[in-house]
Amino acid sequence: MSRYDVVVVGLGGAGSSAAFHLSAAGLKVLGLEQFGPLHDRGSSHGRTRIYRTAYFEGEAYVPLVRRAQQLWHELQGFARERIIQRTGGLTLGRPDGPTVRGARRSAAAFALPHEMLSPEEVRARFPQFSIRGSEVGLWDPDAGVLFPENCLRAHAAGAAERGAELHYGEAVTRWSARSGSVEVDTKAGNYRARSLVLTAGPWTPSVVSDLALPLTVERQFVFWFPPSDPDLYRPGRMPVFLWDARPEAETYGIPDLGDGVKVGSWKGKVAPTPEEADRSLREEDAEPVRAFVRERLPGLVPRETESISCLYTNSPDHHFLVGPHPRHPNVVVVSACSGHGFKFTSVLGEIVSRLLAGEEVPQELSPFDPGRFQSGTEGRRRRE
Ligand SMILES: Cc1cc2nc3c(=O)[nH]c(=O)nc-3n(C[C@H](O)[C@H](O)[C@H](O)COP(=O)(O)OP(=O)(O)OC[C@H]3O[C@@H](n4cnc5c(N)ncnc54)[C@H](O)[C@@H]3O)c2cc1C
Repeated sequence: MSRYDVVVVGLGGAGSSAAFHLSAAGLKVLGLEQFGPLHDRGSSHGRTRIYRTAYFEGEAYVPLVRRAQQLWHELQGFARERIIQRTGGLTLGRPDGPTVRGARRSAAAFALPHEMLSPEEVRARFPQFSIRGSEVGLWDPDAGVLFPENCLRAHAAGAAERGAELHYGEAVTRWSARSGSVEVDTKAGNYRARSLVLTAGPWTPSVVSDLALPLTVERQFVFWFPPSDPDLYRPGRMPVFLWDARPEAETYGIPDLGDGVKVGSWKGKVAPTPEEADRSLREEDAEPVRAFVRERLPGLVPRETESISCLYTNSPDHHFLVGPHPRHPNVVVVSACSGHGFKFTSVLGEIVSRLLAGEEVPQELSPFDPGRFQSGTEGRRRRE
């Protein structure tokens, strides 16, 4: 039986970062991933992710996202591939809607650089967007794009260089924890460590089954649309955006990085398990997004050149799970990033490392306590 300081279960966005930070802290780390190093079954594939600072989901995220950005830039310092690209970002929508109002509140609370743009100013500066009526924009100059596959590769390579053992194609079938020790089984082996990190993304409900977490897995599609005037849609001219244009769900997009403008919406289809998610694209999935493109992004050809599926892991209050397992202080759970977690994965790995070094759970993490659903309180829903 092999012995480690920490075993990390799942080497996606959060797990690869945790392995990186734990091994940088000098710990002997074993990372176990059921699939290959970069796969398309979970939540961290699809070439690009948005990062933004003026966070409408809640002010609690702002210090985290700022630290996350610093860490992405540090990772860029030694990564061989592109990790982060600043494009600026626009939060568009009704001035009194939760998206614009929330982003504005976060920006004001932390004195973040930002500008409120009137409808006329949005039209003049960003003709790519066809806004209507009183819709306004919040310009966030510190927003941009992360490249998730490159981020995972850089975190995993950095962890391996610092001595972490990363086993791919090795699913964890069982774990148990006692004070100061954990045991983990796979078909290939049995491992012991002092601590355990559970970063299983959409598989969290089964991997952390003892907590009966009320999480849902939601299958999403994203689409790439070709621009008729490519110059207007490249980074530098077009920012990343988030828009409450459709009543059923926010829509977001990323400028053309050579493969078209990426557009997605937060409306997906709930699946009982990741394996049962229906990944075949149907008209009912594609047509609302094409209609959005036709009506709101008039310089794009409203017929996608590519689409892919991806999974969200949602908690009832749409906030993350980050912190010690309620019954096992040496087991840290990170998941339920509810469709907006990639930008945080750098800092989530650092938090895991600090918690396992014995730091108290900081007050800022209390909204993310993995034990908060044990009492039956479900908290606030995001789009109330
Ligand atoms: C379409 C889409 C668009 C998104 N856009 C954005 C965005 O613009 N900005 C943003 O910040 N976030 C975005 N997100 C959310 C973000 O990508 C996710 O929150 C984040 O990637 C989640 O990372 P994770 O580590 O929790 O999960 P994953 O990256 O899926 O990692 C979990 C890993 O655990 C492994 N695993 C599970 N069970 C086991 C087991 N038993 N044994 C071994 N390994 C196991 C899985 O195989 C997987 O590799 C988006 C998500 C989707 C789907």
